[in-house]
Amino acid sequence: MAGKPRVAICWLGGCGGCDEAVVDINEAILGVAEAVDIVLWPVALDYKYHHVEMMEDGSIALSVINGNVRNSDHEEMAKLLRRKSQLVLAFGACACFGGTPGLANLRTKRDIFDWVYRDAPTVVNPEKSYPQAKVSSNGTALTLPEFYEQVYSLNQVIEVDYYLPGCPPPPDLIINAFKAVLEGKLPPKGSTLAPHKALCDTCERNKTKPSRIAIRDIKRIHQVEAQPNTCFLAQGILCMGIATRTGCGETCININIPCRGCFGPVEGVKDSGAKYVSALASIIDAEEEKEVRRIVDKVCDEVGYLYRFSVPASILRKRRASEIEEH
Ligand code: SF4
Ligand code: SF4
Repeated sequence: MAGKPRVAICWLGGCGGCDEAVVDINEAILGVAEAVDIVLWPVALDYKYHHVEMMEDGSIALSVINGNVRNSDHEEMAKLLRRKSQLVLAFGACACFGGTPGLANLRTKRDIFDWVYRDAPTVVNPEKSYPQAKVSSNGTALTLPEFYEQVYSLNQVIEVDYYLPGCPPPPDLIINAFKAVLEGKLPPKGSTLAPHKALCDTCERNKTKPSRIAIRDIKRIHQVEAQPNTCFLAQGILCMGIATRTGCGETCININIPCRGCFGPVEGVKDSGAKYVSALASIIDAEEEKEVRRIVDKVCDEVGYLYRFSVPASILRKRRASEIEEH
Protein backbone atom coordinates (compact mmCIF):
# COMPACT_ATOMS: atom_id res chain seq x y z
CA MET A 1 0.00 0.00 0.00
CA ALA A 2 3.06 2.26 0.31
CA GLY A 3 3.04 5.25 -2.00
CA LYS A 4 -0.70 5.61 -2.25
CA PRO A 5 -2.15 8.88 -0.92
CA ARG A 6 -3.62 8.44 2.52
CA VAL A 7 -7.26 9.44 3.00
CA ALA A 8 -9.24 9.75 6.23
CA ILE A 9 -13.05 9.90 6.32
CA CYS A 10 -14.60 11.02 9.56
CA TRP A 11 -18.08 11.68 10.95
CA LEU A 12 -18.52 14.39 13.61
CA GLY A 13 -21.92 15.94 14.53
CA GLY A 14 -24.16 14.60 11.76
CA CYS A 15 -26.71 11.92 10.98
CA GLY A 16 -24.50 9.44 9.14
CA GLY A 17 -26.09 10.22 5.77
CA CYS A 18 -22.85 11.74 4.52
CA ASP A 19 -20.93 8.55 5.29
CA GLU A 20 -23.62 6.63 3.41
CA ALA A 21 -23.27 9.05 0.49
CA VAL A 22 -19.63 7.98 0.10
CA VAL A 23 -20.81 4.39 -0.29
CA ASP A 24 -23.54 5.60 -2.69
CA ILE A 25 -20.96 6.36 -5.34
CA ASN A 26 -21.40 2.61 -6.03
CA GLU A 27 -18.69 0.87 -8.02
CA ALA A 28 -16.65 4.08 -8.17
CA ILE A 29 -15.84 3.40 -4.50
CA LEU A 30 -13.72 0.46 -5.71
CA GLY A 31 -11.64 2.83 -7.82
CA VAL A 32 -11.19 5.14 -4.86
CA ALA A 33 -10.27 2.24 -2.56
CA GLU A 34 -7.73 1.07 -5.18
CA ALA A 35 -6.19 4.49 -5.66
CA VAL A 36 -5.87 5.55 -2.01
CA ASP A 37 -4.93 4.11 1.33
CA ILE A 38 -7.89 4.73 3.67
CA VAL A 39 -6.35 5.22 7.11
CA LEU A 40 -9.48 6.15 9.04
CA TRP A 41 -13.17 5.56 8.38
CA PRO A 42 -14.81 4.66 11.70
CA VAL A 43 -18.11 3.62 10.13
CA ALA A 44 -16.46 1.06 7.85
CA LEU A 45 -12.95 0.18 9.04
CA ASP A 46 -11.44 -0.68 12.39
CA TYR A 47 -8.78 2.00 12.68
CA LYS A 48 -8.57 3.78 16.01
CA TYR A 49 -7.89 7.32 17.15
CA HIS A 50 -4.39 6.37 18.36
CA HIS A 51 -3.49 5.00 14.90
CA VAL A 52 -4.04 8.50 13.50
CA GLU A 53 -2.29 10.11 16.47
CA MET A 54 0.85 8.07 15.74
CA MET A 55 1.05 9.27 12.10
CA GLU A 56 3.41 12.04 11.15
CA ASP A 57 1.89 15.49 10.88
CA GLY A 58 0.84 16.22 7.29
CA SER A 59 1.09 12.55 6.26
CA ILE A 60 -2.60 12.21 5.31
CA ALA A 61 -3.24 13.63 1.83
CA LEU A 62 -6.93 14.33 2.41
CA SER A 63 -9.33 14.26 5.33
CA VAL A 64 -12.98 14.18 4.35
CA ILE A 65 -14.89 15.44 7.38
CA ASN A 66 -18.66 15.40 7.63
CA GLY A 67 -20.83 16.69 10.47
CA ASN A 68 -20.53 19.82 12.55
CA VAL A 69 -18.70 20.48 15.82
CA ARG A 70 -21.09 20.12 18.77
CA ASN A 71 -18.85 18.76 21.52
CA SER A 72 -15.25 18.49 22.71
CA ASP A 73 -14.81 15.08 21.06
CA HIS A 74 -15.68 16.55 17.65
CA GLU A 75 -13.31 19.44 18.22
CA GLU A 76 -10.45 17.16 19.26
CA MET A 77 -10.94 14.90 16.22
CA ALA A 78 -11.19 17.86 13.83
CA LYS A 79 -7.98 19.37 15.22
CA LEU A 80 -6.13 16.04 15.10
CA LEU A 81 -7.10 15.46 11.46
CA ARG A 82 -6.20 19.05 10.56
CA ARG A 83 -2.72 18.53 12.00
CA LYS A 84 -2.20 15.22 10.22
CA SER A 85 -3.62 16.29 6.84
CA GLN A 86 -2.43 18.26 3.86
CA LEU A 87 -6.00 18.97 2.77
CA VAL A 88 -9.30 19.06 4.63
CA LEU A 89 -12.60 18.79 2.77
CA ALA A 90 -15.74 19.93 4.63
CA PHE A 91 -18.22 17.34 3.35
CA GLY A 92 -21.95 18.01 3.50
CA ALA A 93 -24.11 20.83 4.79
CA CYS A 94 -23.38 20.08 8.48
CA ALA A 95 -19.62 20.47 8.04
CA CYS A 96 -19.94 23.40 5.61
CA PHE A 97 -22.59 25.47 7.41
CA GLY A 98 -23.69 23.62 10.58
CA GLY A 99 -26.56 21.81 8.82
CA THR A 100 -30.00 21.03 10.22
CA PRO A 101 -28.54 20.17 13.68
CA GLY A 102 -27.35 23.79 13.68
CA LEU A 103 -30.95 24.85 14.30
CA ALA A 104 -30.16 23.84 17.88
CA ASN A 105 -28.40 27.21 18.12
CA LEU A 106 -31.88 28.66 18.62
CA ARG A 107 -31.88 26.95 22.03
CA THR A 108 -29.51 27.02 24.97
CA LYS A 109 -27.67 23.94 26.13
CA ARG A 110 -29.86 24.07 29.24
CA ASP A 111 -33.07 24.05 27.13
CA ILE A 112 -31.81 21.00 25.24
CA PHE A 113 -30.73 19.07 28.35
CA ASP A 114 -34.00 19.89 30.15
CA TRP A 115 -36.01 18.44 27.30
CA VAL A 116 -33.85 15.41 26.55
CA TYR A 117 -33.13 14.35 30.16
CA ARG A 118 -36.15 15.68 32.08
CA ASP A 119 -39.21 16.92 30.18
CA ALA A 120 -39.69 14.69 27.12
CA PRO A 121 -42.74 12.45 27.79
CA THR A 122 -40.75 9.24 27.30
CA VAL A 123 -38.01 10.15 29.80
CA VAL A 124 -37.73 8.23 33.06
CA ASN A 125 -35.16 10.05 35.19
CA PRO A 126 -36.40 10.25 38.81
CA GLU A 127 -33.02 11.50 40.06
CA LYS A 128 -33.04 14.24 37.44
CA SER A 129 -29.42 13.50 36.63
CA TYR A 130 -27.85 15.17 33.63
CA PRO A 131 -24.71 14.06 31.79
CA GLN A 132 -21.53 15.43 33.34
CA ALA A 133 -18.23 15.89 31.52
CA LYS A 134 -16.41 14.47 34.58
CA VAL A 135 -17.60 12.27 37.43
CA SER A 136 -15.90 10.11 39.99
CA SER A 137 -17.29 6.65 40.68
CA ASN A 138 -15.71 4.43 43.36
CA GLY A 139 -12.53 6.44 43.11
CA THR A 140 -12.40 6.15 39.32
CA ALA A 141 -12.64 9.30 37.23
CA LEU A 142 -15.02 8.95 34.28
CA THR A 143 -15.31 11.45 31.46
CA LEU A 144 -17.72 12.22 28.65
CA PRO A 145 -17.26 14.70 25.80
CA GLU A 146 -18.32 18.18 26.86
CA PHE A 147 -21.49 19.34 25.11
CA TYR A 148 -20.94 22.90 23.87
CA GLU A 149 -23.33 25.82 24.17
CA GLN A 150 -23.68 25.96 20.40
CA VAL A 151 -23.06 24.14 17.13
CA TYR A 152 -20.09 25.23 15.01
CA SER A 153 -19.43 24.74 11.32
CA LEU A 154 -16.09 23.03 10.66
CA ASN A 155 -14.32 26.19 9.51
CA GLN A 156 -15.19 27.89 12.79
CA VAL A 157 -12.92 25.37 14.53
CA ILE A 158 -10.19 24.44 12.02
CA GLU A 159 -8.96 25.75 8.68
CA VAL A 160 -10.85 24.12 5.81
CA ASP A 161 -9.34 23.83 2.32
CA TYR A 162 -12.39 22.80 0.27
CA TYR A 163 -16.15 22.58 0.65
CA LEU A 164 -18.61 20.07 -0.79
CA PRO A 165 -22.16 21.02 0.22
CA GLY A 166 -25.41 19.06 0.08
CA CYS A 167 -27.45 17.03 2.51
CA PRO A 168 -25.79 14.79 1.61
CA PRO A 169 -23.57 15.69 -1.38
CA PRO A 170 -24.63 13.89 -4.60
CA PRO A 171 -22.53 11.03 -6.07
CA ASP A 172 -21.33 12.91 -9.18
CA LEU A 173 -19.83 15.74 -7.13
CA ILE A 174 -18.24 13.28 -4.69
CA ILE A 175 -16.59 11.41 -7.57
CA ASN A 176 -15.42 14.71 -9.12
CA ALA A 177 -13.96 15.79 -5.78
CA PHE A 178 -11.97 12.54 -5.33
CA LYS A 179 -10.79 12.75 -8.95
CA ALA A 180 -9.67 16.36 -8.55
CA VAL A 181 -7.63 15.44 -5.47
CA LEU A 182 -6.09 12.32 -7.06
CA GLU A 183 -5.25 14.11 -10.29
CA GLY A 184 -4.02 17.23 -8.50
CA LYS A 185 -6.53 19.34 -10.44
CA LEU A 186 -7.94 21.31 -7.56
CA PRO A 187 -9.21 24.89 -7.74
CA PRO A 188 -7.76 27.52 -5.36
CA LYS A 189 -8.00 26.73 -1.67
CA GLY A 190 -11.24 27.85 -0.09
CA SER A 191 -13.26 26.83 -3.18
CA THR A 192 -16.55 25.01 -3.13
CA LEU A 193 -16.36 21.90 -5.33
CA ALA A 194 -19.79 22.52 -6.89
CA PRO A 195 -21.14 24.75 -9.67
CA HIS A 196 -21.11 28.49 -9.06
CA LYS A 197 -24.63 29.18 -10.35
CA ALA A 198 -27.90 29.42 -8.45
CA LEU A 199 -30.34 26.51 -8.54
CA CYS A 200 -32.83 28.63 -10.53
CA ASP A 201 -30.22 28.80 -13.32
CA THR A 202 -30.35 25.04 -13.84
CA CYS A 203 -33.95 24.32 -12.84
CA GLU A 204 -36.26 23.26 -15.68
CA ARG A 205 -39.14 25.15 -14.05
CA ASN A 206 -37.31 28.43 -14.53
CA LYS A 207 -38.86 28.64 -18.01
CA THR A 208 -42.27 29.00 -16.35
CA LYS A 209 -41.16 31.76 -14.01
CA PRO A 210 -42.76 35.04 -15.11
CA SER A 211 -40.36 37.94 -15.76
CA ARG A 212 -41.90 39.68 -12.78
CA ILE A 213 -43.16 37.46 -9.99
CA ALA A 214 -45.83 39.07 -7.85
CA ILE A 215 -46.61 37.22 -4.62
CA ARG A 216 -49.99 38.11 -3.10
CA ASP A 217 -50.18 35.10 -0.84
CA ILE A 218 -47.76 32.51 0.53
CA LYS A 219 -48.82 28.87 0.62
CA ARG A 220 -47.08 26.00 2.34
CA ILE A 221 -46.30 22.92 0.29
CA HIS A 222 -48.57 20.61 2.32
CA GLN A 223 -51.55 22.98 1.94
CA VAL A 224 -51.77 22.86 -1.84
CA GLU A 225 -51.40 20.46 -4.71
CA ALA A 226 -48.39 22.03 -6.38
CA GLN A 227 -48.31 22.06 -10.17
CA PRO A 228 -45.55 19.60 -11.13
CA ASN A 229 -43.91 21.65 -13.87
CA THR A 230 -44.42 25.23 -12.76
CA CYS A 231 -41.98 27.35 -10.76
CA PHE A 232 -42.88 27.09 -7.07
CA LEU A 233 -42.47 30.81 -6.50
CA ALA A 234 -44.89 31.55 -9.33
CA GLN A 235 -47.37 29.39 -7.38
CA GLY A 236 -46.77 31.39 -4.18
CA ILE A 237 -44.78 28.54 -2.58
CA LEU A 238 -41.42 29.52 -1.10
CA CYS A 239 -38.50 27.89 -2.89
CA MET A 240 -34.90 28.67 -1.89
CA GLY A 241 -33.60 28.09 -5.44
CA ILE A 242 -33.08 31.80 -6.05
CA ALA A 243 -30.51 32.04 -3.23
CA THR A 244 -29.05 28.51 -3.23
CA ARG A 245 -26.08 27.07 -5.10
CA THR A 246 -26.95 24.47 -7.73
CA GLY A 247 -25.31 21.05 -8.05
CA CYS A 248 -27.86 18.83 -6.30
CA GLY A 249 -29.38 17.64 -9.60
CA GLU A 250 -32.69 19.26 -8.56
CA THR A 251 -33.56 16.12 -6.62
CA CYS A 252 -36.21 17.81 -4.46
CA ILE A 253 -37.71 19.84 -7.32
CA ASN A 254 -37.97 16.64 -9.39
CA ILE A 255 -40.24 15.08 -6.78
CA ASN A 256 -42.32 18.28 -6.54
CA ILE A 257 -40.75 19.56 -3.32
CA PRO A 258 -39.37 23.12 -3.25
CA CYS A 259 -35.69 23.74 -2.57
CA ARG A 260 -34.80 24.16 1.11
CA GLY A 261 -31.23 25.35 0.59
CA CYS A 262 -28.93 22.44 1.50
CA PHE A 263 -26.25 23.60 -0.99
CA GLY A 264 -25.84 26.89 0.86
CA PRO A 265 -25.36 30.34 -0.61
CA VAL A 266 -24.34 30.94 -4.21
CA GLU A 267 -20.76 32.02 -4.90
CA GLY A 268 -19.92 35.39 -3.40
CA VAL A 269 -22.95 35.45 -1.06
CA LYS A 270 -22.26 35.07 2.63
CA ASP A 271 -25.76 34.56 3.93
CA SER A 272 -28.40 32.87 1.78
CA GLY A 273 -31.21 33.64 4.26
CA ALA A 274 -30.54 37.38 4.14
CA LYS A 275 -30.29 37.21 0.36
CA TYR A 276 -33.62 35.42 0.22
CA VAL A 277 -35.32 37.98 2.46
CA SER A 278 -34.13 40.74 0.16
CA ALA A 279 -35.40 38.86 -2.94
CA LEU A 280 -38.72 38.08 -1.27
CA ALA A 281 -39.21 41.72 -0.29
CA SER A 282 -38.91 42.69 -3.95
CA ILE A 283 -41.58 40.26 -5.17
CA ILE A 284 -44.27 40.73 -2.54
CA ASP A 285 -47.08 42.52 -4.29
CA ALA A 286 -48.73 44.77 -1.72
CA GLU A 287 -48.95 48.50 -1.14
CA GLU A 288 -50.20 48.72 2.43
CA GLU A 289 -47.96 47.72 5.34
CA LYS A 290 -50.87 45.78 6.83
CA GLU A 291 -51.15 43.71 3.67
CA VAL A 292 -47.39 43.09 3.54
CA ARG A 293 -47.57 41.84 7.13
CA ARG A 294 -50.50 39.55 6.32
CA ILE A 295 -48.50 37.93 3.52
CA VAL A 296 -45.22 37.69 5.45
CA ASP A 297 -46.97 36.25 8.51
CA LYS A 298 -47.78 33.21 6.40
CA VAL A 299 -44.12 32.21 6.70
CA CYS A 300 -44.18 30.02 9.80
CA ASP A 301 -40.81 29.44 11.44
CA GLU A 302 -38.81 32.02 9.46
CA VAL A 303 -35.41 30.76 10.64
CA GLY A 304 -36.35 27.17 9.90
CA TYR A 305 -37.30 28.17 6.36
CA LEU A 306 -34.50 30.56 5.53
CA TYR A 307 -31.61 29.06 7.53
CA ARG A 308 -32.54 25.39 7.72
CA PHE A 309 -28.98 24.28 6.94
CA SER A 310 -26.93 27.27 7.91
CA VAL A 311 -27.65 28.96 11.25
CA PRO A 312 -24.10 28.48 12.71
CA ALA A 313 -22.37 29.83 9.57
CA SER A 314 -24.89 32.62 8.97
CA ILE A 315 -24.78 36.16 10.26
CA LEU A 316 -27.27 35.00 12.94
CA ARG A 317 -24.93 32.25 14.26
CA LYS A 318 -27.02 31.56 17.36
CA ARG A 319 -29.86 32.88 19.45
CA ARG A 320 -28.86 36.13 21.09
CA ALA A 321 -29.49 35.58 24.75
CA SER A 322 -27.44 36.60 27.73
CA GLU A 323 -27.64 33.08 29.13
CA ILE A 324 -25.68 31.65 26.16
CA GLU A 325 -21.99 31.90 26.87
CA GLU A 326 -19.08 31.22 24.58
CA HIS A 327 -17.54 27.88 25.45
S1 SF4 B 1 -25.27 17.09 5.74
FE1 SF4 B 1 -27.25 16.00 5.85
S2 SF4 B 1 -26.72 13.86 5.34
FE2 SF4 B 1 -24.81 14.90 5.92
S3 SF4 B 1 -24.55 14.51 8.13
FE3 SF4 B 1 -25.61 16.49 7.91
S4 SF4 B 1 -27.80 15.99 8.05
FE4 SF4 B 1 -26.71 14.07 7.61
S1 SF4 C 1 -37.67 29.25 -7.59
FE1 SF4 C 1 -37.48 27.04 -7.35
S2 SF4 C 1 -38.94 26.14 -8.81
FE2 SF4 C 1 -38.63 28.28 -9.41
S3 SF4 C 1 -37.00 28.18 -10.96
FE3 SF4 C 1 -36.02 28.58 -8.97
S4 SF4 C 1 -35.47 26.53 -8.21
FE4 SF4 C 1 -36.96 26.25 -9.86
